[in-house]
This record gives sequence, C-alpha cells and structure tokens, in this order.
Amino acid sequence: MKILQKKIIIVGVGPAGVGAALTLSRQGFRDIVILDRFDRVGGIPGKYTRHGKPTFILWSKAQIRHGSEYADSLSEQLNRTGIDIRLGTTVIRFHPEEREIEAVSKQDGFFRIRADAILFACGARESTAVERGWMFGQRPARVFHTFHLLQLLNEIPEMPQARVAIVGSEVVAYSTAAKLAQTLNRPLMIDHGKTPDCSVLSRFYFFRGQTPQRIQNVQKAYTRGDMSVEGIRLEKKPAVSIPADYLYLCGNFVPNTELLATADIPFHTKTRQLTTDSEIQLRQQGIFIAGNMIGKASGGEKAYFRGVFSGRRIAAYLK
Ligand SMILES: Cc1cc2nc3c(=O)[nH]c(=O)nc-3n(C[C@H](O)[C@H](O)[C@H](O)COP(=O)(O)OP(=O)(O)OC[C@H]3O[C@@H](n4cnc5c(N)ncnc54)[C@H](O)[C@@H]3O)c2cc1C
Repeated sequence: MKILQKKIIIVGVGPAGVGAALTLSRQGFRDIVILDRFDRVGGIPGKYTRHGKPTFILWSKAQIRHGSEYADSLSEQLNRTGIDIRLGTTVIRFHPEEREIEAVSKQDGFFRIRADAILFACGARESTAVERGWMFGQRPARVFHTFHLLQLLNEIPEMPQARVAIVGSEVVAYSTAAKLAQTLNRPLMIDHGKTPDCSVLSRFYFFRGQTPQRIQNVQKAYTRGDMSVEGIRLEKKPAVSIPADYLYLCGNFVPNTELLATADIPFHTKTRQLTTDSEIQLRQQGIFIAGNMIGKASGGEKAYFRGVFSGRRIAAYLK
C-alpha cells in the first residue's frame, strides 16, 4: 500500500488543532494534513447549536459566544490557509518510530500517512461516575454527560420541568448549569471539592449574580433508583438524600489518549495523562500533544492558545 508523505499531520480539528494549524501556516508551513472524525471543523464547540445561552467565553474579546459561532470562525480562518482538511476521518493506529498514522474514512477508505512531525489534539471526554472514584450505587437510566444534554437540547430546546442535579464544578459543569437554568429553577450542583474548579470570572460570565445552588465537600455519593435515577444520597452526618429526575456528570475530563495507548506509550492509569517523561521523549521524536489532551480542563479559547503554543514548538523542531 502506498504511504502518503507529509511534513506535518494534525489529528483533531478542535480549537487546539486549529490554533496549531494557523500558527504553522503563518510560519510558512504548507505541507500539512489535518484529520478529524467529526464532519465539521471546531471540535466540541461545533456540537453546540445557536439556541439558548451561549457558553464559550472568548477572553481575548471579552465576549461570550455560542459554540457553533466560535467553531464557524475557526473554520473560516482555517479554510483561508488552503491546508488539506480531511473530515469524517478517524485515526485508528499510530506508529511512533516511523511517525506514521493509520486512518479510515468513507471517502479514502483505509490509508497511511507519514510525517516529519505529528500533533495529537484529540481533546478529552467527561469521566464516568466510576472514574470519579467517589460516586457509588447503581447505574440507572437518566444519568447523562454534557454531550447527551446537547443532543437533548437540540431536539427539545425547552427542557421539561424536572429536578436536575449536576455533578462537578469545572467550566463545563457551570456552562451546563447555565444552559439548564434557562428553563429550570436554579439547578443543583454537587461537588467533591471545597471550592469550584471553574474560575470566579467564568462563573460570573455564566450567571452574573444568580449563582446555582451548590453542595460542596461531598466525600461519597450514591445514586438512587433501580430503573431510572430517583436521586442521589450524600454521605454526610446525617446522610442527605436529594431527589433528582436527571443526573448530569459534567467536566472532570479524561484525555483521549487511547490512540497513544495503541503504541504502548506510558501514561498515568488513573488520570490518563501522559507521564512527563513520555511526553518529553515523544517531543524529541517529533510527536506533540495539545489542548485538552494535556493538563487540566479548560474552555475553548484556552485550548486554542495551547494549540498555538504547540504550533510554535513544532515550527522550532522542524527548523
Ligand atoms: C462535552 C463537553 C462540553 C463542553 N462545553 C464547554 C462549554 O460550554 N464552554 C466552554 O468554554 N468549554 C466547554 N468545553 C471545553 C471545550 O470544548 C474544550 O476546552 C475545547 O473544545 C478543547 O479543544 P480541543 O481542540 O483540545 O479538543 P476538542 O474540541 O474535543 O477537539 C478534539 C477533536 O479531535 C477529534 N478526534 C479525537 N480523536 C480522534 C481520532 N482518533 N481520529 C480523528 N479525530 C479525532 C475529535 O473529533 C474532535 O473534533 C466542553 C468540553 C466537553 C468535552
């Protein structure tokens, strides 16, 4: 099979992948291919439609935008560069020694590409109740992630009145609470930690004064309900039982490092983050990671700037 050769491969066309691609293009690199399994540019922001409350904060403009607006602006900038963008393309395997990836798409079938540098900007997903380590009990229906809420809101923009509990306190948990607060009275947030992970400023953007109810410092929580979720029991003295028709597990990201795992690259089994040593070794081989695949959860624009930073690193490596 013919193996394509490129200067740079970028896997993932979310804010981080686009940030890197634009930076490399501005530095004069043209021979770039960017691959993404989604059908549009923009990663997670592209999954947000234009209804309800916008939840993407553009700090550089001091504005708050709908995810899809932000994704559109990334797409327009990327299209102007003329970079080879292959959407609907899933990267399934990775060979670090050869700097080669294997990918599949409806259009091109199975193919391989080698490059002088590869950037993985595959994002992250929200952790499950088990992965959180402090949530126990059965797994009844109506326990969702933010992604499910987006799909639900796309179909039914006005959520029926229901009792909703949100688990988490990161930027995504607060943005979820803000979306839900449009139709529900002050959604309840439950968190393991003492202070919210979401910054004061982001919380201000989402709520401007009318903050959601919050129960913090929960050491253990148990879901209640056999078929569908009926509530959540918090282990405190005395135990508190909160009724809920829906439970959303928000934020608390797990990086999408599965692809790197196929190449036996060591990472922390609990956090799924690459170890510092393995990240440095990869970089020396021309392999980089960016955006929500590394570090703590962040909003879209921060992921973009992490991509810019990686783009500069790749340029320096290639020069
Ligand atoms: C469910 C959810 C909701 C969020 N809501 C908000 C919000 O309301 N406000 C806010 O500010 N931030 C929000 N965030 C955070 C924000 O979306 C991220 O910070 C930002 O999108 C991260 O950018 P990224 O480029 O690192 O990853 P992503 O945007 O996740 O992009 C990663 C891209 O990689 C692609 N990819 C992954 N694996 C492969 C593969 N094997 N082959 C090909 N392509 C692949 C994916 O299709 C995706 O397009 C949310 C995050 C999540 C997960």
